[in-house]
Amino acid sequence: RLFLDRIQQIDPQLNSFITVSDELALQQAKAADERIASGNATSLTGIPIAHKDLFCTEGTLTTCGSKMLNNFIPPYESTVTSRIQQAGGVMLGKTNLDEFAMGSSNENSYYGAVKNPWNLDKVPGGSSGGSAAAIAAGLAVAATGTDTGGSIRQPASFCGITGLKPTYGRVSRFGMIAYASSLDQGGPMAKSAEDCAHMMQAMAGFDDKDSTSSDTLNDDYLANLNAPLTGLTIGLPKEYFGDGLDANVAKTITTAVKEFEKLGATIKDISLPNLQLSIPAYYVIAPSEASSNLSRFDGVRFGHRCEDPKDLIDMYTRSRAEGFGTEVQKRIMVGTYALSEGYYDAYYLKAQKIRRLIKEDFVNALKDVDVIMGPVAPTTAFGLGSKTSDPVAMYLEDIYTLSVNLAGIPAMSVPAGFVDGMPVGLQIMGNYFAEAKLLNIAHQYQ
Ligand code: GLN
Repeated sequence: RLFLDRIQQIDPQLNSFITVSDELALQQAKAADERIASGNATSLTGIPIAHKDLFCTEGTLTTCGSKMLNNFIPPYESTVTSRIQQAGGVMLGKTNLDEFAMGSSNENSYYGAVKNPWNLDKVPGGSSGGSAAAIAAGLAVAATGTDTGGSIRQPASFCGITGLKPTYGRVSRFGMIAYASSLDQGGPMAKSAEDCAHMMQAMAGFDDKDSTSSDTLNDDYLANLNAPLTGLTIGLPKEYFGDGLDANVAKTITTAVKEFEKLGATIKDISLPNLQLSIPAYYVIAPSEASSNLSRFDGVRFGHRCEDPKDLIDMYTRSRAEGFGTEVQKRIMVGTYALSEGYYDAYYLKAQKIRRLIKEDFVNALKDVDVIMGPVAPTTAFGLGSKTSDPVAMYLEDIYTLSVNLAGIPAMSVPAGFVDGMPVGLQIMGNYFAEAKLLNIAHQYQ
């Protein structure tokens, strides 16, 4: 009730929730009370959690931030939300996001932009901006997010919370509406690494309903939180501290890294030479996969359908033209173009080759160091509306996050300080399936 009241009071200013599920939350809270009374409490029992509105929740509206799905009530539950529910989590509602997770500022939502709780004139980051803002404002204890190119880490950084993008395949994508399937990964967002570890404990692990789910043994994410960091080697890639990085953000990150030295870590300068290529590679691969994934929204089976279609083609075209926002339409067109005959080799195949190079950069670097650190984003949260008319400036915001998804490795955003009153996130990137290590490192710092 406390959280529902806070949402009612505070969220009209933030717009972080698309749906608040009061009744269901109180029902689940009651069940949690009973579970506690009968001595059967588990880690998340009674914990109020919000879900990014692209996880399917049975019986609860799931919009993906799009007009296309403004009437979609899923008949089934995603694996992530179902596991959190089984662990006793109470679902407060569904959080706002950039339409189909395409964006870096949460300004691409059909349900309106989300505002940053630290300064209402600034963006919360995106695409999981609703989840980040809700946690920062104390409207939820933890939330789910998804990260295709930074959508957990960048809003976490902008809102001063902690977020983890797990290794690709660590968390099931079943019921997580697809944007770019080879990059999408769900993960936890919360105030601290310890809270993220509790969420991972419930969310992660093999799922036979997702063919890309990894059967690598699931970790205990809580067991090593308190391990000392003596002997840890941290790589600092020079490309993460070059042109384009705000000088004060750079200073905050460097100060944070010094703290790790005090905790017993050794710092090493490294290089990830293909970083610059991550933007063009990502912005070919992601739209290509999106153009294919989003072809299912045709007005036939679910979602928005135009009024009085003349014939089938008219229904397809008008339903999609009315249902999708500008950014989504743009990406569908870019993706369709990149995949079309005659262009496939020049764009998509080329981007996949670059992806391989970026992955090899990380694999090689992680032979010499345990983890890699750098900024999450080149700036702190920017002004609402300040980049909406300049897509290239918006895409450049993703420079430090995209390559992690192209490589498939895990990475976190951890609050590291403030510049002019706005939070700055430190990014910690690790080897495949090193989530427990990342959480340990973040926890020692926090
Ligand atoms: N900003 C990136 C994009 O617009 C990443 C979004 C995401 O991770 N979902 O595609």
